[in-house]
Amino acid sequence: MTSKNHPHAAPTSLAEKAKGLLFIVSAPSGSGKSTLVQRVLHEVPHLCFSVSHTTRPPRAGERNGVEYFFVSPEDFESMVRRGEFVEHAKVFGNDYGTTWKQVEEAQASGDVLLDIDVQGAAQVKQRFGEEAPSVFLLPPSFEVLEERLRGRSSDGDAVIQKRLETARREIREYSKYDYVIVNDDLDRAAEVLRSIIQAQRARQIRQREEIRKILKSFGGNIE
Ligand code: ADP
Ligand code: 5GP
Repeated sequence: MTSKNHPHAAPTSLAEKAKGLLFIVSAPSGSGKSTLVQRVLHEVPHLCFSVSHTTRPPRAGERNGVEYFFVSPEDFESMVRRGEFVEHAKVFGNDYGTTWKQVEEAQASGDVLLDIDVQGAAQVKQRFGEEAPSVFLLPPSFEVLEERLRGRSSDGDAVIQKRLETARREIREYSKYDYVIVNDDLDRAAEVLRSIIQAQRARQIRQREEIRKILKSFGGNIE
């Protein structure tokens, strides 16, 4: 999407506007991304999830506005035309997208976590650069990925086969990401993701206001 067809101007630095970082997390389906993301969201303060819009039907237990906003293909298309998406992509035959509204609402309370596929990640990275640190989650092996997809028992065999085929393609994208986490042990993977978030928050450009206040207390014209 270009900046022409949405109502938001090309980005200035999020850091200078004291806006939250956009943490991108992508992974082949079944790697354990939702499990990891939910866990880290509970553990890290001032980190909010951006709820995406999708045309896929809800799975058992999914609630509108919590896991996703479930919309019709027609409504999704209208939202695309109105420029409401920061990024959007077709994944497994359904449309998925991140709206400016969700991102901005989440940024009001801190940093934002985007659980999006490799196509969406490329769009966000291109637009926001360093202010969208990206993480690729890898399963420990193809065999483990298959086990996890089957163990989740939310999809039939044909869907699982499709997800495995897509995974073969998607894992090649790992090199476009800033960080890679192997999701072998969940505790360890969560610790690494928390560390990445903390390190990004500690970058001096993210702390300009706080630093200025401290320097001011020293008197003189230290900048
Ligand atoms: P995704 O969101 O990537 O599609 P899920 O979070 O639904 O994947 O995880 C797929 C399955 O793998 C689930 O049954 C989940 O409980 C299991 N799982 C996730 N992470 C791990 C892990 N580190 N070790 C073992 N099983 C895991
Ligand atoms: P699922 O249907 O299993 O929840 O998600 C399928 C895939 O769509 C996952 O890889 C997930 O990261 C991706 N996805 C979810 N929301 C979005 C979004 O808003 N944009 C993009 N590009 N992908 C998304």
